[in-house]
Amino acid sequence: MNVILASSNQGKMAEFTRKLAPEIIIESREKIEVQETGESYFENALLKAKAYYETYNQPALSDDSGLNLEAFPYLLGLFSARYKPELNSYLDKCNHLLEHYKENKIENRAAYFSCVLCLYKGENEIFFFEGRSNGSISETLRGGNGFGYDPIFMPAHHPENKSFSEDLAWKEEYGHRAKAIKELKKFLSV
Ligand code: IMP
Repeated sequence: MNVILASSNQGKMAEFTRKLAPEIIIESREKIEVQETGESYFENALLKAKAYYETYNQPALSDDSGLNLEAFPYLLGLFSARYKPELNSYLDKCNHLLEHYKENKIENRAAYFSCVLCLYKGENEIFFFEGRSNGSISETLRGGNGFGYDPIFMPAHHPENKSFSEDLAWKEEYGHRAKAIKELKKFLSV
């Protein structure tokens, strides 16, 4: 099945292409600006997949994800991509967030990443897959690889207590997106 990826993120494109072949062949199209007005990752994933499906008249796959902070439930979460728009880089955003924990003397650093995929094959064939990574926010920046909030996220079950950024191979196998993709693959194989 050929599926359009409802994202222009090159990292996501590479991961989906590699992991979903040969059952799904990922295609890219010109980006569509979708207002993420949903009240959940599911709603936003649906809005994105539906927009690509309706524009290009072909099955579409979307990914909506974010970092959820136990101490600050409304700071990132659904708004992870919109946090501190005046800061140009994610490294600056990560540093700003670390300062926020320090300034407020917050000890509860529990956090989790969510990822929801929506496979939109037609108006009556819409499927969702979810993955989650539990963990915590580091005290300092840890590693320079990956994207987004990878340098400040410590997954709970990493055998050497490394951040996502310090061990991308581990993230690719056990991270939130990897888990959601595994669910999608399970669905495709039945
Ligand atoms: P989306 O691409 O609209 O779903 O936005 C997701 C937001 O969460 C962006 O700010 C990403 O940087 C962040 N995010 C999502 N997944 C990850 C991840 O695997 N690592 C780091 N940041 C992520």
